[in-house]
Amino acid sequence: MIGLDRVIGPDKLSEEQIVDGRRDELAAALARLRGRIAAACAAAGRDTAEVRLLPVTKTFPADDVALLADLGVLDAAEARDSEAAAKVAQVAALRPAVGVRWHMVGRLQRNKSRSVARWAVQVQSVDSVRLVEALDRAARAAREAGQRHAALGVLVQASLDGDPARGGCPLLQLEALADRVAAAPQLRLEGVMGVAPLGVDPRAAFTRLGATAQRLRRSHPGAVELSAGMSGDLEQAIACGSTCVRVGTALLGTRPLTSRGAYPTA
Ligand SMILES: *Cc1c(COP(=O)(O)O)cnc(C)c1O
Repeated sequence: MIGLDRVIGPDKLSEEQIVDGRRDELAAALARLRGRIAAACAAAGRDTAEVRLLPVTKTFPADDVALLADLGVLDAAEARDSEAAAKVAQVAALRPAVGVRWHMVGRLQRNKSRSVARWAVQVQSVDSVRLVEALDRAARAAREAGQRHAALGVLVQASLDGDPARGGCPLLQLEALADRVAAAPQLRLEGVMGVAPLGVDPRAAFTRLGATAQRLRRSHPGAVELSAGMSGDLEQAIACGSTCVRVGTALLGTRPLTSRGAYPTA
C-alpha cells in the first residue's frame, strides 16, 4: 500500500485527517464542558443529570453538527431561521439515520414562524402573545402538511435587562404569556429561558430568573425547564437552577465576526 503522505504530499492534510482532527477537537471540548457542568452541579448540590447541554451551532457548518451527533450529542440550537433551515437539511443528508433535535434560541420574527415550525422541536425565544399566536397557527399548518408530528415545545423568554432590543418578555408579564402558550392547542409550555445582561455579574439576574421559573411551575407543573447559562456564565446559571445550558464558543470555538459586528447572542 502506498502511504497517504506519498499520494498527497507530506505537508497536506487529507480530508480524512482534517475531519478526524475536528472530531478530536470537539470531543476534547465536550469533555471539558461536561467537567465544568459536573463541577458546577457538585458545588450546587445538584445531580448532573438535571442539566442538559445544548450546543449552539450558529455560524458553524453542518459537518460540525454531524460530528457532534457521532459523539452522541443529538441536540443543536440555532439563532436564525434562514441559516437553520438550510443546515437542518444538510445534516439530514449527512446523517440520514440520525434524528437531531433542533432548537430555536434567537429572536424570531412572526413571518418566520411557518419555517421554524417545520424544523424545530422547541422554540426557546418566545416573548410576545402575537408570536405565540403565529407559532400556534404555524405548528397546526406544519402538522396538517405532515411536516411535524408533535406539538411545538415552547420556553417563554424572560427579559433580564429591560432592553427590548435584546428580546424577552418583562418578568411581570411572563406568567400571562405562559398562560397563553399553555392554552394554545399546538404548543406545549416547557419552561423559561433567559440571557444574562451584558457586562455585569449575571448572578442577580439568574437568581431572579430562577425564582420566576419556580413560581411558574406552581401554576404550570409541566414547565420544568430553565434554560440559562452560556459559555461564560454556565456555572452561575447552574447554581441558580438552570436545567439547560446553551453553549456555543466553549464547544465549537470563536464565531467569525459579521459585517454588522459580532454575531448577535440573542
Ligand atoms: C449564541 C447564543 C448562545 C451561545 O453563546 P456562547 O457565549 O457562544 O456560548 C446562547 N444563547 C443564545 C440565545 C445565543 O444566541
